[in-house]
Amino acid sequence: MARIWMPLAKWRGLIDGTTCPMCGDQTADENEYSFKIATLASGRLQLQKNQFIKGYCLLIANGHYSELHTMPADQQATFLRDMVTVGAALMDVFGADKMNYEILGNGIPHVHAHIKPRYYGEGSPRRIGNSAGVCHLATEEYQQRVEAIRSALRKLETNQHERPKFK
Ligand SMILES: [Zn+2]
Repeated sequence: MARIWMPLAKWRGLIDGTTCPMCGDQTADENEYSFKIATLASGRLQLQKNQFIKGYCLLIANGHYSELHTMPADQQATFLRDMVTVGAALMDVFGADKMNYEILGNGIPHVHAHIKPRYYGEGSPRRIGNSAGVCHLATEEYQQRVEAIRSALRKLETNQHERPKFK
């Protein structure tokens, strides 16, 4: 017998976006799972409340697309560029040794990237699942991380504008 991910009606609602939780309120500074860091050109950047992976963020694309390849090409490129810019910022802020990017969407098929800093010497060099462990911080520690990431993103943005353009 085939294993099911979830009831088919639920899956269809998530795929077509009618019941997609990532299409819900996008203005809140905080939700059950995360704090908003910034609104980028391609979507919103959230700091996960579970900081078991130090610096773990989510970039959630604007608009409901269940696949990266169904996004308009310019939006797709902007999303990927934003994703790696965030990776550079997180590496800088947290002193990570490696960045991991995961675009899965099997649970919530709305394009989003799990952006995970990794640190040399962690238990395993393999992928760390989103629920591998739990680490919650004090409110001010979340705010410090949010501010540090915002500041690193601003710095990168400034540098990009100053970089000479080649044709
Ligand atoms: Zn959605």
